[in-house]
Amino acid sequence: MPASNVSAETRFVFDYLDRNAAAIASLGDAIFRFAEPGLQEIETVKLMTGILEEHGFAVERGISGFPTAFLATYGSGDPVIAMHTEYDANPENSQASGIAEKQEIIPGAPGHCEGHNVNAAVMVAAALAIKKAKDQFGIGGTLKVFGAPAEELVLARPYFVRDGYFDDVDAAFHDHIWGELATEYGQIQIAAVSAEFTFHGETAHAGLAPWRGRDALDAVVLMDMGVAQYREHMEPTMRAHRAITNGGTQPNVIPAEASVWWYFRDPSADGAYALFEQAKKIAEGAALMTKTTWDVTVKSAVWPVRANRTLAETVQRNIDMIGVPDWSDEEQTLAKALQKAADAPEIGLHTEARPLTGPAEMIMASNDCGDITWKVPSARLWFPSNVPGVSYHHWTGGAVLAHSIAHKGAVAGAKALAASVLDTFIDPEIVERAQDTHAEELGDITYKPLLPADQQPPLGANEELMARFRPLLEEQYSKETPVFE
Ligand SMILES: [Zn+2]
Repeated sequence: MPASNVSAETRFVFDYLDRNAAAIASLGDAIFRFAEPGLQEIETVKLMTGILEEHGFAVERGISGFPTAFLATYGSGDPVIAMHTEYDANPENSQASGIAEKQEIIPGAPGHCEGHNVNAAVMVAAALAIKKAKDQFGIGGTLKVFGAPAEELVLARPYFVRDGYFDDVDAAFHDHIWGELATEYGQIQIAAVSAEFTFHGETAHAGLAPWRGRDALDAVVLMDMGVAQYREHMEPTMRAHRAITNGGTQPNVIPAEASVWWYFRDPSADGAYALFEQAKKIAEGAALMTKTTWDVTVKSAVWPVRANRTLAETVQRNIDMIGVPDWSDEEQTLAKALQKAADAPEIGLHTEARPLTGPAEMIMASNDCGDITWKVPSARLWFPSNVPGVSYHHWTGGAVLAHSIAHKGAVAGAKALAASVLDTFIDPEIVERAQDTHAEELGDITYKPLLPADQQPPLGANEELMARFRPLLEEQYSKETPVFE
């Protein structure tokens, strides 16, 4: 699109983000080095909220009972537009940037091998650009910036929605790293219920008097068998997978307590919940057989992720204006080497943005932002800070996350996000139309939280891991502080 067709407001945010490219890179790199997994994003949130506060945002920390969640607000009145993203790393994902081979920065440590560090940098940069444009051009409306912890545990955002944080929001935007600059509409991801079952029995000496024991681990095993037998009768779209989180302590003590953590998934919220209900019956059966008792904690329960067509069209207009970064030969060579290592087609980095796609092809994974997307019209922006085809949560997915590929992709992503959000502030018709098409898209489905009304956030994940690795990670923290003008 010729530069003359770009509005003054859009030109303003593009220029601001180009001028602040070094700060965007520095912010993403700093979070990469913090390498904080879900619920431990302490330094990450301190840095993000510090920058937002310094630039005039009012920050509420610890929303919905999550110490590493936040809401940063700027402006007032209608419309109310939200941005939200995640910033957690993963266990065992320590990987150096800029090389096409596995190289842990700290052996065994957590790290970013997908790119949520860049998600955070893009959202903060876009928020600052929008704020500056609102000031410069006297644009009204409220911008709400949500920091969502522990996406990898599919955790926080259903709590935000249940607790009313989106009741006054008119439209919402989510940015996520990918191998291309793209958006889409329709249903993108599936629903999930994350629930931990705990069985309670009685200890006994497993040699001397096993008949005196009531074995909680037996109940976990029988529940596992019960769900396995049930698989034949599940809808083909359903998924159930688990980890035994407490399997007893030592063989000669019959365990009085044992736990298994399940994810139940389906493209529909009702389907995921129906599978969970069946699992509760299986747990009851396992308890009867073993003379144990049981309880269940729903850690989280998320709706599928969907994206609204009107907002997708708005984002796509900006994507087409921005285009993908100009990749260097060195960046293309590194990308191809990583694709080779990941056993993916060696196509290098995309040199064009993807045209608007929809209805989207659903991927059989979940994201905790699902509830937001049924509550309010929502957009998903994918930005090109990772290499197409690499494996996430694997070293190939972490090898460019503090490299010029991530940095350049982040500037493109921040531009697309800032310009699209700004469009909704400037043109009230976009929000009105988005709300109409949102209602049409939902049809006769009425959103109600899957999360139990009294469920408290399960905290404490990754605590022991970080107690071990934080002192080592601290030695690797960035020495520079990102400075946005
Ligand atoms: Zn992710």
